[in-house]
Amino acid sequence: MSQKINCPVCSESVDKYDICDNCGWQNSGSGESESDLRGPNEISLKEARQAFKKEKSIN
Ligand SMILES: [Zn+2]
Repeated sequence: MSQKINCPVCSESVDKYDICDNCGWQNSGSGESESDLRGPNEISLKEARQAFKKEKSIN
């Protein structure tokens, strides 16, 4: 069974470790930090939030 979390970028409900349908962020679960570049995303969480605010997408 998949575990739902709130997307750290757009707050939509998304499966843990899945790519958010709403904004394109791939969640890496707990322990995600704002400026950490590890994980599958090419930008940091902080950058993703800023991009989402402007473009409604991070891609
Ligand atoms: Zn999202």
